[in-house]
Amino acid sequence: MSSAHLRDKQSFALRTNSWLLSRFCLVWSKFFEDVTEENPVFVRFGRYSRYRLGSIKLNRKTLKSYITITSMFKDQKIPVRVIDHTLAHELVHYIHGFSSKRVRLHKYPHAGGVVGKEMKKRGMGYLIESYKKWIKHYKRTFSTHE
Ligand SMILES: [Zn+2]
Repeated sequence: MSSAHLRDKQSFALRTNSWLLSRFCLVWSKFFEDVTEENPVFVRFGRYSRYRLGSIKLNRKTLKSYITITSMFKDQKIPVRVIDHTLAHELVHYIHGFSSKRVRLHKYPHAGGVVGKEMKKRGMGYLIESYKKWIKHYKRTFSTHE
């Protein structure tokens, strides 16, 4: 086993579900302090997806919301801000009443760029900028193959 391989394995292991949860708590306390957890929210890494970076779903029986983040983000090469951005994006859906028990504020989850507007209003413009930069570069890495 090469040392590079070892390093890769190590860095991969650092981004666990508890690490993800700590990022989520940080984002919540920093930018969504006014938001109460009306129904419980769970955060975890899901399967590896290159296109679907995050999602939020409500279990209507248990009334628990689940935020799932692509396992691709376990890679240390993905900037932490990109992960924070994805968590914040899903949390905005939650506070807008999508996949949560909160009052629905819009007809559609992405109508008129409401997610970005909410994030900017809450001081997360820098996360949007980091995400935009990353996605631009990221799309270039596979657009020629597919
Ligand atoms: Zn969304």
